[in-house]
Amino acid sequence: MTPMDLITIKVDDFTAQLFKIYRQVLKEGVTQPVVLGINRSDYMFDHGADSIPALKQVEINTIAASFGGLTSRMTAVHRHVLNVLGKSKEASKLLTNNPSKGISMGIAKAWELYASDRAVVMFLVEETQRNIFDQRCIESELWKRNIRVIRRRFKDVFEKASLDNDKRLYIDGEEVAVVYYREGYVPKSYNKQNWEARLLLERSRAVKCPDIATQLAGTKKVQQELSRPGTLERLLPNKPEAVAQIRATFTGLYSLEMNEEGDKMVAMAIADPERFVLKPQREGGGNNLYGAELKKVLEKIKHSPERTSYILMDKIKPLPALNYLLRAHSPLKIAECVSELGIFGVYIRQGQDFIMNKHVGHLLRTKTVEHADGGVAAGVAVLDTPYAI
Ligand code: ADP
Ligand code: MG
Repeated sequence: MTPMDLITIKVDDFTAQLFKIYRQVLKEGVTQPVVLGINRSDYMFDHGADSIPALKQVEINTIAASFGGLTSRMTAVHRHVLNVLGKSKEASKLLTNNPSKGISMGIAKAWELYASDRAVVMFLVEETQRNIFDQRCIESELWKRNIRVIRRRFKDVFEKASLDNDKRLYIDGEEVAVVYYREGYVPKSYNKQNWEARLLLERSRAVKCPDIATQLAGTKKVQQELSRPGTLERLLPNKPEAVAQIRATFTGLYSLEMNEEGDKMVAMAIADPERFVLKPQREGGGNNLYGAELKKVLEKIKHSPERTSYILMDKIKPLPALNYLLRAHSPLKIAECVSELGIFGVYIRQGQDFIMNKHVGHLLRTKTVEHADGGVAAGVAVLDTPYAI
């Protein structure tokens, strides 16, 4: 964590609470050197007037990155549709895509490194489950490998989980090798008991996917800090090509600190709100501010340290394409649409050593242009398939 994050945690209670657990775990000493990351880095094709068209990163998801399961079935759906329309040549061009396989391979490898045949993988799931089938796709791949999976909520962990003297995690008589979070990334997931449950999981010897440090690394604030000149160079020394490739995917990201630079950015955004997106430290869609609302909020908080809980980002401007979105309870009509491409990455680190670092598939989400924000779970976008030409 950089000192910049200390600014964020002063004004954002949720990030502060995560950071408190991170510090506590660090103080106690890390009991599990294996870390499993299942990330999804999201991009849009920028067609801004003054730039060459290029994929620009929207954000990176380091916790509960979803739709790897359901999207693994999408190519077959769209191939079928094209075949029915007599377009078998086009159907054959759709890229094969199976993130569930790669994601489950990562979980299986982490389970193997934990080295206890009896132990299970625990999916930490929401109180009200809205995306269970996506998770089931990954779960069934694990069962196929003879790895047992249980599903539990924070509430169950609080009531029934415990650590033994070696900090091994037990729940309902089962030892847990891997905790796979599909929950825990928004404030409303937590009450006092759930924060205690989270701390227990983080202190345990189970492999966490992700651990709390990795969750914090996925905040919008860290994304903005990574884009500061010199940061990538420091993290990837002697790799100027990699640095240049990564930097080429960044669009403008700005901190709103209480200094001259921050004042300048606030004034710029108020003067030209259509150029920017204002983002709080939140996940899950529907939290960002645009246009008139962005302007209104910035005018209200421009003199308050509260502004540092947000980052400002250049708006990415993809070229709309005409398409039909098939959605429940909504008549089919042609509409101007834009797409967002997510790339799934799975990695395993054991102490300082990289055990796995793989690209395991993609996700394309498409929405109509009238929605500035929101993904599939927010009810705005639909799952799609890229058509390579
Ligand atoms: P969340 O963590 O809520 O998913 P995102 O950063 O992914 O936050 O933003 C949500 C949605 O808002 C994205 O899926 C995208 O459609 C839109 N969005 C976010 N940032 C930008 C941007 N810089 N330019 C254009 N649209 C954006
Ligand atoms: Mg997103």
